[in-house]
Amino acid sequence: MKIAVIGGGIIGLSSAHYLQLDGHQVTVFDAGDGLDNCSYGNAGYICPSHFIPLATPGIVRKGLRWMWNSRSSLYVEPRLDWDLIKWGLLFMRSATSKHVHNAAAPLRDIALISQQAYIDWHEAGLDFEYQHKGLLEIAQTEAGEYHAQEIVARAISLGLVDTEWLSKDQLDAMEPGVRMNARGAILFHCDGHCYPNHLMKSLRAQLLNQGVTFRWNDAVTGVEATKKQIHTLHAQSGSHAFDQVVLAAGSWSGSLAKSMGLTLPMMPGRGYSVTVENNALQLTRPSILVEGRVALTPLNSSTMRFGGTMEITSHQTPPRLSRVQGILDAVKGFYPDFDMPLPALDKVWYGYRPCSADGLPYIGRTQRLENLVMATGHAMLGLSLGAGTGKLVAQLIAHKPTDMDIRPFNPNRFG
Ligand SMILES: Cc1cc2nc3c(=O)[nH]c(=O)nc-3n(C[C@H](O)[C@H](O)[C@H](O)COP(=O)(O)OP(=O)(O)OC[C@H]3O[C@@H](n4cnc5c(N)ncnc54)[C@H](O)[C@@H]3O)c2cc1C
Repeated sequence: MKIAVIGGGIIGLSSAHYLQLDGHQVTVFDAGDGLDNCSYGNAGYICPSHFIPLATPGIVRKGLRWMWNSRSSLYVEPRLDWDLIKWGLLFMRSATSKHVHNAAAPLRDIALISQQAYIDWHEAGLDFEYQHKGLLEIAQTEAGEYHAQEIVARAISLGLVDTEWLSKDQLDAMEPGVRMNARGAILFHCDGHCYPNHLMKSLRAQLLNQGVTFRWNDAVTGVEATKKQIHTLHAQSGSHAFDQVVLAAGSWSGSLAKSMGLTLPMMPGRGYSVTVENNALQLTRPSILVEGRVALTPLNSSTMRFGGTMEITSHQTPPRLSRVQGILDAVKGFYPDFDMPLPALDKVWYGYRPCSADGLPYIGRTQRLENLVMATGHAMLGLSLGAGTGKLVAQLIAHKPTDMDIRPFNPNRFG
């Protein structure tokens, strides 16, 4: 079959990989050159431990409290935008304890499928510096420790039994010589990490070898359909005929879906990262600073990445360096010897997480257009869930049973 994949981020490329392996003729369209989308500068975690969706009761409380603080890790830019208001109402409605409970198993399952797929790619020779060293979640306050202990128990009950709470002394022993203000940390042995920029470049090169066609700088503008079947895809370059279409345009998927007459609540969640060589703070394991909501990744033995913040904003709003200062301040609060001046804007990376209205991805066929498969909305987990999503997309296109029950990811769930 002739298949169009809209979007050349990790979700689009992973889908293209499995579709091409199944013998299809795959074309990837991207609005840009595909060299700096959200799948590049992220923290690189491939993490079954992240079974808590973005939409939680706690995040709504924090969002309201931090709304006016330009350095806080979570920020919703107040603006009169009907799509934002609708998304916000759906988000608040989804952010219940019951939702958090129900989302855990599906998020764990897709993450495990995905992690195995990445391990297979790594073993097959794809170069993306995959390392399996676990992930630390470091807590500084009593409340942070209490919450962390609850997560340890929940992880174990979900079968992620290799999860433990480390005391401050155990933590110090893991990073000898590094001064740290912390009470202790969760260690998720199940997690891995990679160098996402290298993953994207290697995967792209491999897809070219596999025979995938790329149409860079060729934005898709809409589709034409008859009797619920897309027959023509309109792009900047002109009109093209395809048998099946995969929508994987990241945070832009909501507006593209709207142009196709579909409802896919989505907001861009901007985050920032700074990558430095030979910094005095060179850790051996990736870690999340719980109260600072910052991710630290040793991408390799001499390169550290510091990233974070969730800024619900529009793609047009200029980036804010105050948020990067917030990241650096949070690192300093945990590692007192950390010293890094605020970099100039051109040394800062930022990207837009595709945030669905309930923190779960949209994966599946749409009711309105039967030959369209959605693969988007992975928010802060797109890299981790990328390879697994690609597998599921190929199974959906082939009308085969999927490796897991994907009903929680139903793209029609909001209308
Ligand atoms: C600071 C930060 C840290 C993060 N850390 C992690 C992490 O450690 N682990 C993890 O799992 N996730 C992480 N994430 C989230 C992850 O990066 C995203 O979820 C993921 O990259 C989304 O991938 P995607 O393919 O859906 O979208 P993208 O990578 O944004 O790709 C979408 C592509 O679609 C293209 N496009 C848009 N519109 C059109 C159109 N009309 N026609 C054609 N193409 C179009 C765009 O140009 C873009 O190239 C992080 C994100 C940030 C910001």
